Amino acid sequence: MKVLVCMSVVPDTTTKITFTNNDTSFNAQGVQFIMNPYDELALTKALDIAEPAGGTVTILHVGPADAEPVIRKALSMGATDAVRINAVPSDSQFVAAQIAAYAKDKGFDFILTGRESIDYNGGAVCGLLGAMLNIPSISVITQLSVSGQTATIKRDIDGGRETVSCSLPFVASAQKELCEPRIPNMRGIMAARTKPLQVTDPASGTTHVNYVRFELPQPKQGVKMISADNPEELLHLLRNEAKVI
Ligand SMILES: Cc1cc2nc3c(=O)[nH]c(=O)nc-3n(C[C@H](O)[C@H](O)[C@H](O)COP(=O)(O)OP(=O)(O)OC[C@H]3O[C@@H](n4cnc5c(N)ncnc54)[C@H](O)[C@@H]3O)c2cc1C
Repeated sequence: MKVLVCMSVVPDTTTKITFTNNDTSFNAQGVQFIMNPYDELALTKALDIAEPAGGTVTILHVGPADAEPVIRKALSMGATDAVRINAVPSDSQFVAAQIAAYAKDKGFDFILTGRESIDYNGGAVCGLLGAMLNIPSISVITQLSVSGQTATIKRDIDGGRETVSCSLPFVASAQKELCEPRIPNMRGIMAARTKPLQVTDPASGTTHVNYVRFELPQPKQGVKMISADNPEELLHLLRNEAKVI
């Protein structure tokens, strides 16, 4: 069994976000980068399926060299090898096109992505990959099992859950409930140092989206305390200030 897991590298969730270049670029100065949390789940699930079958799990990242410590973390979790496509991944269509160009003739049984990158939140790469590779694409999955040439997948829908099946190969995106992320152990960390990390040039392709401006949300206003003896003031504020009634 051959599995591909796509990994994006994102700012640590505690990062204080600022912008540069007249608010057109994210300011990466001093920021700690981590593996996209949904991709940790995708990788763990891929390992849980591939390892008992004696299969391999390849990590693929589109991005510059400073992602390599995070790629090594994926190797320490148990991935067999990794590929980094050396390009600035500035939009989802470009990223998906790079992944598709790499994967198209490699014979992967299935491909997993995260449901979204927690920085740019496009939630687009999985669907784009399905279309570009002409394979089934199933988003936001919470359970996955593979038997022979068939995958059985569960996903949450509004007010319930659905079970679908599809034939291999397919691409699916991982949602929170898929599994608990695997924590690398010392043996994995040592082994990761010598596992193969191949760097390839990007396929030809272009970016389609330019970032015009980023804005932070307005800071939350302070809480207004209203005396329990004064419901008229509460009503007045809800009606005239918050304008919610
Ligand atoms: C100038 C600039 C530089 C950037 N540099 C980087 C960078 O160095 N590293 C980085 O990861 N992102 C980087 N990004 C973010 C990158 O643009 C997004 O990851 C990409 O556009 C996909 O965004 P999305 O929100 O649509 O992904 P989504 O569709 O929300 O992502 C879903 C899943 O797709 C996969 N995926 C997403 N991005 C990648 C990727 N780059 N490689 C492999 N799989 C991926 C992951 O499995 C992810 O969970 C950069 C963005 C800009 C504008």
